[in-house]
Amino acid sequence: MKVLVINCGSSSLKYQVLDMTTEALLCKGLVERIGMDGAVITHEKIGMDKVVNETPMEDHKAAIALVLEAIQDSEHGVVESMDEIGAVGHRVVHAGEKYASSVLITDDVIKALEECIDLAPLHNPPNLLGIAACQELMPGTPMVGVFDTAFHQTMPPESYIYALPYEYYEKYGVRRYGFHGTSHKYVAQRTAEMLNVNLDDLKIITCHLGNGASVSAIKRGKCIATSMGFTPLEGLIMGTRSGDIDPAIVEFIADKEGITVQEVNTILNKKSGILGISGISSDMRDVLEAAEEGNERAMLALKAFAHRVRFYIGAYIAEMNGVDAIVFTAGVGENSIPMRDIICNDLGNLGIKLDVVKNKVRGKELIISRDDSPVKVLLIPTNEELMIARDTYDIVTTGKTR
Ligand code: ADP
Repeated sequence: MKVLVINCGSSSLKYQVLDMTTEALLCKGLVERIGMDGAVITHEKIGMDKVVNETPMEDHKAAIALVLEAIQDSEHGVVESMDEIGAVGHRVVHAGEKYASSVLITDDVIKALEECIDLAPLHNPPNLLGIAACQELMPGTPMVGVFDTAFHQTMPPESYIYALPYEYYEKYGVRRYGFHGTSHKYVAQRTAEMLNVNLDDLKIITCHLGNGASVSAIKRGKCIATSMGFTPLEGLIMGTRSGDIDPAIVEFIADKEGITVQEVNTILNKKSGILGISGISSDMRDVLEAAEEGNERAMLALKAFAHRVRFYIGAYIAEMNGVDAIVFTAGVGENSIPMRDIICNDLGNLGIKLDVVKNKVRGKELIISRDDSPVKVLLIPTNEELMIARDTYDIVTTGKTR
């Protein structure tokens, strides 16, 4: 069966087609500037050059119609007709407390996701637009929703509750949800496969370090704690997000700068993090380069970032009473040799011994701890699209996920 994976943002859309008999990626693409001037679709059939087509498209439905055209193209397409697409997997950011795994999309599911718009006002609406457009253009093709929050639903209440008046949880759903769940789940499953150990016998700490970043504690395949919270602002220092701060800072800054709480919130999301501390860039590559040239604020940003990752690693080791494997994934985790070095430095007493030679690798699966390290350190490139395609295939063929 061939599965189409759709990840729909407010003005952009990513897609892939995978053949699930072999899990081979057949094509992938990106639509940008949906509904704006200069809208463009970039399509790549695996093994061929990319095709870039600048063409007006007024909305998400028009964008998806172009995607369907591209995947059926006689030269660059991967199917002869849409009948070959057995199912569509949709990435959806927020499913609240409603879903702890991926589900077949029905009218009830759509209603539940609409109820979560409050919790993810920037993400759920475009995700829902993508689903509606596909349902219109591909009637009869089963659709599956794969949620960023689902994997974290196994957290126990003491891990997700905030110490606020309890009625805010009851009335408004204010609690920790966690994000990047599809990635954390994927790398946890790969860890078990790479170590040749049953996932049920492992305690894993997964570090998804990209522009957005989060750490999860995974015991017997279930998430028991994660660093992102009610929104993706909490937890680690990120490209432009502050991560954990004293909440009293919000009012203090609003007062001092004469700005609103909403404006402070925007600053915490868009002007803080690595960008805020370094004053240089949100991109880790730029900051690493500046640090190498001796820029002190760049060095401080890197050290602070690593400090917070180590802080969570320590906390999660305590939470799980030990750890068998620590995994690095996403842009920074997969590619930054110095960052992995700093994070893992001097953790020998905890049984974590990085092999500095094996660590000199980028973007490929490898165990990068020393042979005598009781805790294995792994580099695993994440593959959220494959995970979405797998869940989609599993749900339409067996009714449940792996
Ligand atoms: P997201 O999906 O959250 O936008 P990614 O997982 O693509 O983010 O990660 C983006 C981050 O990865 C950027 O900060 C970028 O600088 C960093 N990155 C990519 N390549 C490297 C590299 N070679 N060294 C250090 N950081 C890198």
